Amino acid sequence: MASDKELASLVTADPGLPRPNPTQSYWQHIPHPLANTRSESLPSERDYAIIGSGITGCSVAKTLLEHHPTATVTVLEARTLCSGATGRNGGQMAANAGEEYMHLAEKMQELIEEYDAVEASEMQKLQKLRVFMTDSKFEDFQESIARLEADHPSMKGIYTILDADTVLKEYGIHGASGGALLPAGTVWPYRLVTKVFDALLKKYPGRLTIETNTAVEAVEYDEKFLTPITSVFPYTLRTSRGPMRAASVIYCTNGYSGHLLPCLRGRIHPFKGTMTVQDPGTSIPNQGKFVSWGFHYPPTYEPDTQRHGYGLYYLGQSAKTGYFYFGGENTRIDEAVSADDSFVASHSVSHLQSVLPRFFGKRG
Ligand SMILES: Cc1cc2nc3c(=O)[nH]c(=O)nc-3n(C[C@H](O)[C@H](O)[C@H](O)COP(=O)(O)OP(=O)(O)OC[C@H]3O[C@@H](n4cnc5c(N)ncnc54)[C@H](O)[C@@H]3O)c2cc1C
Repeated sequence: MASDKELASLVTADPGLPRPNPTQSYWQHIPHPLANTRSESLPSERDYAIIGSGITGCSVAKTLLEHHPTATVTVLEARTLCSGATGRNGGQMAANAGEEYMHLAEKMQELIEEYDAVEASEMQKLQKLRVFMTDSKFEDFQESIARLEADHPSMKGIYTILDADTVLKEYGIHGASGGALLPAGTVWPYRLVTKVFDALLKKYPGRLTIETNTAVEAVEYDEKFLTPITSVFPYTLRTSRGPMRAASVIYCTNGYSGHLLPCLRGRIHPFKGTMTVQDPGTSIPNQGKFVSWGFHYPPTYEPDTQRHGYGLYYLGQSAKTGYFYFGGENTRIDEAVSADDSFVASHSVSHLQSVLPRFFGKRG
């Protein structure tokens, strides 16, 4: 197990810039036409510079454009459009507090309809089945739901507790101590976010530019502008394509934030996840329209390999193809706390391949 000192050095390390050669993500296997979009030359001055083109950068751009009718906005992205975690995640829409989910799901539904993305994003409203693989995890969960419902009676009825027999007979999951259903959804985040960016570019020509393959290497603030406004563009972004000045800078840089903002090192750090897409053939029915899953197990540690199991597997199924989108970590801590997404630890993939069939009563 990593010592406290080793852990401290991992979480406080400079994450660096996004690597130029990330692994290929299934979600991006058909790149959006805007994947490499950029202006001929970088704009020289903008009201808002947004660094990062994931779901956070997209939502900040949309909000600024809608609420500031004359503001100019530039999104800068080190690699291709929406190619970070948003373009490579589990696609699960679920929150552990059901009430919060209801509100977020309504917002997401509105967004998907507003941008005519129902078909492209393959959004499904469904039930998430949280499965507990040990009695103690299941007991803890039931206690916490009882407490939640006692403290917040309006949340009664959001979670449906299921015993082990029901989880096996109704949902075909083997080896569980029990489970719970809650309202949830699944979505293709890459397609949704790139569609919104596309629509924003068309709706706000001249006010929005997106500069992909443009890494921001440093952001400088000119101290002389601290005194009453002599310039409205006090920030200079040093990029791989030259400088750009901005009135405000918004960092939507996820686990890379500590590179540009060293004060955040140790507070925000990268954590690398592994997702697989697995075709179960016809051996497992396609339940992608009805249910997604989370499997909770006690975290593990193997001294021989120094691998940690982080306690959760998550999966959804494509309603169209039946493919499982299956993720979960079983890696050394130094592989997980890393911003280097140019490789997948080979063990993570074989581990996920061997685990999935077992939940459905097949041989791994
Ligand atoms: C394997 C995995 C599975 C997940 N599953 C789920 C799930 O099922 N459901 C869920 O809700 N969440 C899931 N998540 C989490 C979710 O993906 C993230 O919380 C979310 O995508 C973060 O969005 P973001 O826009 O903040 O960051 P990102 O999408 O990572 O975007 C940040 C962008 O900033 C860019 N950038 C960084 N530094 C610079 C720089 N200096 N210059 C220019 N560009 C820069 C990066 O290239 C990147 O594109 C998962 C994450 C992973 C990794």
